[in-house]
Amino acid sequence: MLKINIHNVPFYRFSGLGSYYRLAHFVSTRVGGVSEGGQFALNMGFMPADTTTNVLTNRDLLLKELNIPLTSVVLGEQKHTTNIAVVTAEDMGRRAMDRESRLPATDALITAVPGVCLMVLAADCVPILLYDTEKRVIAAVHAGWKGTVGRIVEKVVERMRQEFGCDPKDIRAGIGPSIGPCCYEVGEDVAEVALENIGDLGTCVKKNEETGKYILDLWEANRLQLIHVGLYSGKIEMARMCTCCHGDEFFSHRASKGDTGRFAAGIMVREK
Ligand SMILES: [Zn+2]
Repeated sequence: MLKINIHNVPFYRFSGLGSYYRLAHFVSTRVGGVSEGGQFALNMGFMPADTTTNVLTNRDLLLKELNIPLTSVVLGEQKHTTNIAVVTAEDMGRRAMDRESRLPATDALITAVPGVCLMVLAADCVPILLYDTEKRVIAAVHAGWKGTVGRIVEKVVERMRQEFGCDPKDIRAGIGPSIGPCCYEVGEDVAEVALENIGDLGTCVKKNEETGKYILDLWEANRLQLIHVGLYSGKIEMARMCTCCHGDEFFSHRASKGDTGRFAAGIMVREK
């Protein structure tokens, strides 16, 4: 990822996802906003601990630097499901200005409509952006451990193929900042579910012999799913930034014991 630091609100871009003029995309940080407390400062998610006004100001501060109208943004109600929505022009603005209009229980969004900005929120979970450079179809995915072991990103690529005829070989992917293998210790219960569901993919669940705990590598688990479903490994970019280790730059649920905000990852094909 490349850090774009020329404005008041810094953000990251995946260097290989698409050119600025064809594809707007970003991963926000917690720097440059107006929220306070655990949500300091660029909290992008509506939540009881923050005010709607703050969140709207934060979204506006970031999006205007990218030339993305807030009214073009669409978010789902993220519930750690593997539910996918295909977003149309009529969905534009859902959950952009209020919480209630979100797409219910949806953790992944796909669209082929230029000018629609798909956005997911995270604070340790993995945000993933996908772009089919031929069909110009995009997706934004929220993959926490449940979504990851539910193979949500694999399902998203399958859906892009079914719905829009996308060839996985044309799809580029960016796996964003999230809790990394350095910090993501899980109990035996989670490890068991993970092994059962993604154990065929390779080594993303490892036992720490010293502590007896397990490490779940969400980055690798999602990377391997993308390869499994047909993406070229050279087209998958990993941020390899741990949100828990970088609490000054990203919101982390684990690092701040729950009192935190949300950063965002968004993607939009620019209209010609
Ligand atoms: Zn870490």
